[in-house]
Amino acid sequence: MTSEISSDLDGLGPARVETVVIGAGQAGLATGYHLARRGREFVILDAGERVGDNWRCHWDSLRLYSPAGTGALPGMRFPAPPMSYPTKDEMADFLETYASTFELPVRTGVRVTQLCREDGKYVVTTDASSFACDNVVVASGPFGRTPYVPAFAGELDPGIAQMHSSAYKNPAQLRPGGVLVVGASHSGGDIAFEAGTAGHPTVLSGRVNGEVPFDIHGKPARVIFPILFFLAKHLMTLRTPLGRKMRPKVRAHGGPLIRAKRADLARVGVEMVPARMVGVSDGLPALDGGRVLKVANVVWCTGFRQDFSWIDLPVTDEDGWPLEMRGVVPSSGAVLRRAGVPVRLRVNARRWYRQGRGLRRQSPVRTPAGRPARGGRAGHSLMVC
Ligand SMILES: Cc1cc2nc3c(=O)[nH]c(=O)nc-3n(C[C@H](O)[C@H](O)[C@H](O)COP(=O)(O)OP(=O)(O)OC[C@H]3O[C@@H](n4cnc5c(N)ncnc54)[C@H](O)[C@@H]3O)c2cc1C
Repeated sequence: MTSEISSDLDGLGPARVETVVIGAGQAGLATGYHLARRGREFVILDAGERVGDNWRCHWDSLRLYSPAGTGALPGMRFPAPPMSYPTKDEMADFLETYASTFELPVRTGVRVTQLCREDGKYVVTTDASSFACDNVVVASGPFGRTPYVPAFAGELDPGIAQMHSSAYKNPAQLRPGGVLVVGASHSGGDIAFEAGTAGHPTVLSGRVNGEVPFDIHGKPARVIFPILFFLAKHLMTLRTPLGRKMRPKVRAHGGPLIRAKRADLARVGVEMVPARMVGVSDGLPALDGGRVLKVANVVWCTGFRQDFSWIDLPVTDEDGWPLEMRGVVPSSGAVLRRAGVPVRLRVNARRWYRQGRGLRRQSPVRTPAGRPARGGRAGHSLMVC
């Protein structure tokens, strides 16, 4: 999909566009939907070759942990029974269909390398071209997509195959022999289960942060999940003391086991050890307490980290998370907004626009019906979703 906006490949400088949305995941596409409905001029940039590649890249057997009924985007339900669990490729195809159905101007294969402010405009530099704009929506992912691996990983014996969960596809990548899975959250649980099922002696290291106390594929889930999602939306928000208290924990720790749980792991012979891997001893992984494991594989299920180093604006706190309250961060005269992030105030894009606090308008824009589009004020805004 392409947009009509010219690039700077002609050498005339950055292309001018009212709004650049960075990222064509759920957040970026939903933002695009609302911008398109209001006849606003925008382009969505995504580093992936195809919309949905951020889901296609996961391991082969991954199914969503959340039911299809919760996966709707504005204007389109997920095309599957509400209590089914789509595969990662079905999720990817849904996003691609969404972008094409609403003719969203997505440019794929374009990685944004820098965002800065120059001469009263935002300048978005990509590996292909650059854009000057009044508004930027950063929708590059909630937990960051930069794999986190501890520094001592480099000390492991080269004979040990090691990979981050983002590079893991299936057990065929593993060398014959034992597997250490580091990190006992959803991905660690699932990958350890798969390795154990494939016959590898497997150790899952790390403290389990609880487990969902029902079978997500069973009948109780039909009743319990809607309640949990309601609580997540209304209780785990910055509006409540509980939500504010939980946020650091949610950000710093993995979630509970959801699909493969302790009993499933035990059934396929996975040894669960609460001790964390804390270093390397003679090339082998060493756990807290001194136990050294002679394994042939290490899979790092240690999560991702935020990397906003490409944003040349003071938008993050000392932990690297964007500063925000009610999704807004006053910063460099800009407004930073976040959506799609665990434990935050929900941003209702529709209401936000109605209140006239939406993205700032560069020039009068008309709706497809020819009426002047409403909302917006003179100025600039930067949102991070
Ligand atoms: C293994 C795994 C399983 C998950 N399962 C579930 C689940 O079952 N249910 C659920 O609700 N959530 C799940 N999540 C979380 C889910 O992926 C995110 O909540 C969701 O994708 C957030 O959408 P987003 O649009 O904010 O970001 P993303 O989906 O991460 O999209 C960000 C997009 O930005 C692009 N991008 C990033 N940086 C740049 C750049 N510099 N230039 C250009 N483009 C860029 C990326 O290519 C990507 O397409 C899972 C995550 C993982 C890792």
